[in-house]
Amino acid sequence: MNNHMQLSFKSTSENEAFARVVVASFLAPVDPTLEEIAEVKTVVSEAVTNAIIHGYEQANDFDIYLSCELNDHQIKIIIEDFGIGMNNVDEAIQPLYTSKPELERSGMGFTIMENFMDHVIVESSLGNGTKVILEK
Ligand code: ATP
Ligand code: MG
Repeated sequence: MNNHMQLSFKSTSENEAFARVVVASFLAPVDPTLEEIAEVKTVVSEAVTNAIIHGYEQANDFDIYLSCELNDHQIKIIIEDFGIGMNNVDEAIQPLYTSKPELERSGMGFTIMENFMDHVIVESSLGNGTKVILEK
């Protein structure tokens, strides 16, 4: 099956759940296993949470962009923000690296994304925002 969708939503924490459910619904026609659904929901949550907390520094009046592509059983999910961005992606994706220890973040978001997906590509630059491409 081939399909695609794109949408944007406000950078508020309520929309973490919204984004998870949207992606799970989008995948429903290809009959994913419960484990696959749980993994995809988790990675979407991690990336959207990052956009809200880090990208937009918890300001809730910006937009997050989500798109999904399905090609046979290959899924590509893109989560993009136009927030602060990162100057060192290689450092940011290291397990346990967090720039916000005071918020009790554990620095495991990217590691979780990499464990659950086949490919994780992070494109980011300081001041321009961040695009996370997740493929499985
Ligand atoms: P956790 O996800 O475990 O709660 P965390 O969010 O700090 O903690 P990661 O999700 O692995 O850990 O992200 C690592 C670091 O990458 C963040 O601390 C932040 O500095 C940076 N980062 C991640 N996503 C973004 C983003 N969308 N915009 C700007 N910086 C980001
Ligand atoms: Mg995170």
